[in-house]
Parts: sequence; structure tokens; C-alpha cells
Amino acid sequence: MNLKSLNELELVAYTRKTVEKERRATSEVLRLLEEIEQRSIHLKRGYASLHAFAVGELRYSDAAAARRIHSMRLLKTLPIEEKASVEHKINQGEVHLSNLSTLQGFFVQERKSGRKSYSTQDKLKLLKEIESKSYREVQKRLAEISPEFGIPQEKERILTSDRSELKLVVDEKTLRKLKRLKELRSHVNPAMSYAELLDWMSDELLKRVDPLQKVRKPKKEGIGDQETSEAHASTPAPERLRARVRAIPNSIKRRAYLRAQGRCEYRDAHSAKVCGSTHLIQYDHVFPWSKGGEAVLDNIQLLCAQHNQRKSNRLTGSVLPRRQSSTVQPAIADF
Ligand SMILES: [Zn+2]
Repeated sequence: MNLKSLNELELVAYTRKTVEKERRATSEVLRLLEEIEQRSIHLKRGYASLHAFAVGELRYSDAAAARRIHSMRLLKTLPIEEKASVEHKINQGEVHLSNLSTLQGFFVQERKSGRKSYSTQDKLKLLKEIESKSYREVQKRLAEISPEFGIPQEKERILTSDRSELKLVVDEKTLRKLKRLKELRSHVNPAMSYAELLDWMSDELLKRVDPLQKVRKPKKEGIGDQETSEAHASTPAPERLRARVRAIPNSIKRRAYLRAQGRCEYRDAHSAKVCGSTHLIQYDHVFPWSKGGEAVLDNIQLLCAQHNQRKSNRLTGSVLPRRQSSTVQPAIADF
């Protein structure tokens, strides 16, 4: 359509019609995201979370993805009729995703902090109360209900190519510890800023906990036998020569971790996309230990918790997320 040919009235009418279509599409996107999550399609496709899928596959910005996912998660907790009613209001422009997603964030924060777990009826009541309010009014109302909600969330904002602004709120106890560290470092830097303190703390801690930075201590003669035997460890040893143990030797863990650079190695067979997440990384027996898989380098891979859980569900035929098993071996710096 040539927009230049439209007069003012036609242009406004056409814009309104297009926006209505956009809203209907938005509410359909929420239903689609719910279905994708329900079927764990994002995990199958090599994404560690629905958010990563929405950003990576659907090309949403972080904020747009978060608004849609939070809104969807709120809607799916509602009874069918109420859910349909909210969807209708989204289509009509009477409820905005920013309010729905703020409200969902509020419910999650209240539950996680142990302050209050909202029932469906409580949620509907609050939803009704905020639906016609502006974003600012909603923030104000929620802060009245729970003053903790008024405390600003942590924020990270890129300022230049090598500078970011980090906003965070700390309690009195943490602030005292930070000040004490500044005192202890004052002989090196008498006017240390918090940014410099964080940089120094990060360096010190990463040396201790980051497997990619840890320097191996040289082993004394005759003690590094485990490492020598590992050279052959990629070939399963005959059962009779050693007991089959589920625990993965630290030396195998270290080599598997370094080989994967600490990243989830799940690969989608269809697209060949590798997850690559560095969050909640765990060790996994490629060929399951329960079926005879050994703790040898070729049979150990790194998976994020989501992909490890997906694999476990598929092996056990479960469709529901299970509680974390005690046999899960987190890829932490314990080697
Ligand atoms: Zn993963």
C-alpha cells in the first residue's frame, strides 16, 4: 500500500487497525511461547532457557523477551476463563505487557523472599486492580503493598566499549565487609574506588574458583600416577581390572571441563546449535552410568542443569521436571 496516497483520516484508521493486529499477534505469541515451553522445544533446539530461545531464535531484545515470558507465565497460572479475559484485554489495549510482567516479577519476588505466596484469587484481585493503571502507578501500588519491592533491582548498562555501569543495593553487613577490604588494601591503594575493589576481589576469587584459571600444582615424582593412568582412561578398562564407580575422578573432571571450556556441550542434532551456557554446569555420563557407562574422559560431557534434566527426563520417560537428584555432579571448582 502506498501510504502517501492516504489522507489523514485514512492514515489514522489504517494505523489503528494495524496496531489492533499487532496486539492480537502479541497475545498469540504468548500462547505460542507457553506451548514451546510446555514441550521443552527451546531445550531441544540447544537453548538453556526460554529467554535465550526468544532472544537467539526469535530475535527479541532482552527486555522484549522478558516482558513476553513473564506475562505468559502469569497468564498460565490463571483459570481458563480469566486467562481468556486477560488475553481479550491485551487485544483491546486495556492491559499492557509491561504491567503483566511487572506483576509476575512481584509475585515471584514475594514468593522467593518468603514474604507471601499469592493464591490464584489473590493474583486475580491484584490484576484487576492494576489493569487500568499506568506503569508508574503499578510500581507505586506494588511498593505500597511490599516496600521491599520498591528497592531498585540490580542493573547493568553498557556505557562505552570497555565500561559498564553496575547498579546494585547491598545491606549494611556487606557494606561493612567491603569497607574493611578497602582498609586492608589501603597500603596498596589508599583511595581505592568500589570499582577497583571489585576488580581486585574478582581476580583473587577467580584464581581460587575458576577451573579455567586454576594453575595446577606440580606433582611430586611417583605421586602423579592417576594422571598417567588417565592417558589410557579414554579407553574403558576391562571390568575385572577396576571397580566401576559412579564418582568421576577429579582428573577426568578437570580435563572434561577444560576441553569444553566450562560450557554446556548439548548439541541440537537438527540445527547443530550447541547450547554453550556457562550457568549451572554439571558433569554427565554420555552413555548413562546406570546402563554401564564409565567415568572416562570420552564418556563425560558438560551439560547445563536444564539440558541434564531434559536428558534425565527422556531416559526415565518423565515429562515433568524432577527435583535435582543427589547424583548430579555440579561442575564446580572441586578438582
Ligand atoms: Zn545447555
